Amino acid sequence: MREEEIAAGLAAVQDRIGAACAAAGRDPAEVTLVVVTKTYPASDVQVLAKLGVTDVGENRDQEAAPKAVAVEATGAQVRWHFVGQLQRNKCRSVVEYADVVHSVDSVRLARALGGAADRHRERPLDVLVQVSLDRDPSRGGAVVGSTVEPDRDFDRVAVTVAEAASLRLSGIMGVAPMSWPPEAAFERLAEVAVRLRAAYPNAVAVSAGMSADLEQAIAHGATHVRIGSAVLGTRPKLR
Ligand SMILES: *Cc1c(COP(=O)(O)O)cnc(C)c1O
Repeated sequence: MREEEIAAGLAAVQDRIGAACAAAGRDPAEVTLVVVTKTYPASDVQVLAKLGVTDVGENRDQEAAPKAVAVEATGAQVRWHFVGQLQRNKCRSVVEYADVVHSVDSVRLARALGGAADRHRERPLDVLVQVSLDRDPSRGGAVVGSTVEPDRDFDRVAVTVAEAASLRLSGIMGVAPMSWPPEAAFERLAEVAVRLRAAYPNAVAVSAGMSADLEQAIAHGATHVRIGSAVLGTRPKLR
């Protein structure tokens, strides 16, 4: 049965988070599990909510928007985290259902999201600035100390979010580059977290770690882990 399958995956991931926190001398209450439900149906989100999951993540607006509506219609309550690459023309839709956006990586996107939140939300939207850890501008993420592309400069993105009336600068997000040891990636992310907190003491969230590397992320201070396949099963490649 699907519910038993999900319960088993969830228990295994919660055990891993508990063990990683114990090894790092951290309190598990400091780490929020965001179950990434992309490619899985709204009924799985309902099951997760019933099992006590409070936070779910999605990476495409086309899929997330109808799913959020379907879940809300069942009365289940979860917080929606948008974790994928976001196009400016989707901001209007995303601010209607998302509680947190993890993937703001340009000044232009921050402005578009702030404008959409001004017009279409009552509560401020929590925003994490996505950091490019390998500084490769062809992939996602803002670049610390970028001189070539001011629109993608980390400090400029952070200031733009912080100054937007309807956005709340809450922290940073990172994805370990494929070719890197995760420790090196999360160590660099932790350095960026220190830099951000020096300027914005309330921006404490560090979103890092997926199914394969949550232990390393927690060792380096992750406050949010984004876990898909380890809870819900291996996703089909195409859909
Ligand atoms: C899909 C996804 C995840 C979850 O990945 P798993 O390896 O299935 O745990 C985490 N973060 C982002 C940005 C994703 O798109």
